[in-house]
Amino acid sequence: METRYIFVTGGVVSSLGKGIISSSLARLLLSRGFKVTIQKFDPYLNIDPGTLNPYEHGECYVTVDGHEADLDLGHYERFTNIKTTRANNITTGRVYQSVIDKERRGDYLGKTVQIIPHITDEIKRNVKLLGSKGEYDFVITEIGGTVGDIESLPFLEAVRQIRWELGNKCVCVHLTYVPFIKAAKELKTKPTQHSVKQLQQVGIQPDVLVLRTEHDIPASMRRKVAQFCNVSPDAVIQSIDAPTIYEVPLMMLDQHLDTIILEKTGTPYHGEPDLTKWNQFLDKLNNAKELVHIGLVGKYVELQDAYKSIDEALLQAATYNDHKVKITYINSERLNEANVDQLLSSHDGIVIAPGFGQRGTEGKFVALKWCREHDVPTFGICLGMQSMVIEYARNVMGMPDANSVELDPTTAHNVIDLMEEQKSVTNMGGTMRLGAYACRLQEGTKVAKAYGTLDIEERHRHRFEFNEDYRAQFEAAGMKCVGENPQTHLVEVVEVPDKRWYIGTQYHPEYSSTVVSPHPLFMDFIRAAIAYQNEKETK
Ligand code: GLN
Repeated sequence: METRYIFVTGGVVSSLGKGIISSSLARLLLSRGFKVTIQKFDPYLNIDPGTLNPYEHGECYVTVDGHEADLDLGHYERFTNIKTTRANNITTGRVYQSVIDKERRGDYLGKTVQIIPHITDEIKRNVKLLGSKGEYDFVITEIGGTVGDIESLPFLEAVRQIRWELGNKCVCVHLTYVPFIKAAKELKTKPTQHSVKQLQQVGIQPDVLVLRTEHDIPASMRRKVAQFCNVSPDAVIQSIDAPTIYEVPLMMLDQHLDTIILEKTGTPYHGEPDLTKWNQFLDKLNNAKELVHIGLVGKYVELQDAYKSIDEALLQAATYNDHKVKITYINSERLNEANVDQLLSSHDGIVIAPGFGQRGTEGKFVALKWCREHDVPTFGICLGMQSMVIEYARNVMGMPDANSVELDPTTAHNVIDLMEEQKSVTNMGGTMRLGAYACRLQEGTKVAKAYGTLDIEERHRHRFEFNEDYRAQFEAAGMKCVGENPQTHLVEVVEVPDKRWYIGTQYHPEYSSTVVSPHPLFMDFIRAAIAYQNEKETK
């Protein structure tokens, strides 16, 4: 089938959930047997979000091929269960870099290089790249930002041109906001009308409008929007606040978003999407009554999206273990010997978060000492795993000054050291150890049992590593190196077998947990947390 292109744009305000709508639409089309991929265009100048602070842009997601990506790609993978790559996330910075590289190579020799057509052509090339291989029936492209932003203009011009070229093989879904004015007790569609006008001004007529709202939008109001915006009345859909993002595909199905798109693109279809597995997950999510309490110790805790993939991986694992998860975020900067017991003791399991830099790390060590001594299920991820190693060296192995050279370059006991291949690196962007690497697990260990296999592949994002020189000392002291890279022998997993569940991974398992395929290590961690809760209760 000739590839169809679906663009998802947003208006009025940002944070309306374009990523969730795109993911939900992808889920519905996939469940009908179509082959679908989703990509995100971000209109900022950074080459990728890897250099962005989580305060700017939430979590940085990592694809298997080592691209530091927008967190929406995490939603795409969680909803579709299909892996994304660097081709699924393009920024203005990358578009310009590619055009400027071509100009220097002489590819445009003799021509004046301009935003139109060169930048827009480069955007179009990236849109069509995914479709050109014939692998996908649908390419869904989410345009970051809001219409009306100066920086979105080249993207919208590219969309206009693609629509013109492809006719009905291309549709535009526009997401807007319908505010509820409390004092007047009224929903207002004027911002939507203005936003559609703005799109029309740049030559794009939306085919479908998705109205984000906190209250039900009456049919008469939707008809009015349809009339003012030149959209067919059945293609004005509401996206009302849902108890969980995982309900959104069903809300879209109820309003026939999938068949509207299929009809508008002239795509033959029959029957209904098969959402059996999705619904099984939702049933479990809605019917779970008992709570498992997880404390997440990190420094970006006041920020909603900083640990998005970990939050979702915990929720998925708890759901499949028939529990609801209550995650409490504990600011490692405020954690100390005096308050640690009060802050951690009500939890059934503790996650020590990934991160960069010294700030907040001493609090992580305090938390880890408490977790180890109280034998609480503990999961260290990336910097969390490195912190487990440091705390163990300091408090069990008698090296009070042990540290990572990232946190203290002068430490005499550099149990975490800069990786050899990182020593010559000077640029910050895209130069960490990134993406999926193989790992061999040791037979008979908790991790090996959790995975049910010895050979795994997991995604990385770090510059520092467990220092091989100390391996024998750690092993002798009871912290075992139970997973390593089969080629380089870098230590990827540590475990203290004497404890209930005390495991640290240099990699990020959270990136590969999805709704229909929860991550085995998160599943096992939650099982351990539930078992620990039961033990506490029967004491
Ligand atoms: N800052 C640490 C490193 O670069 C850990 C990174 C992380 O937690 N993602 O090795």
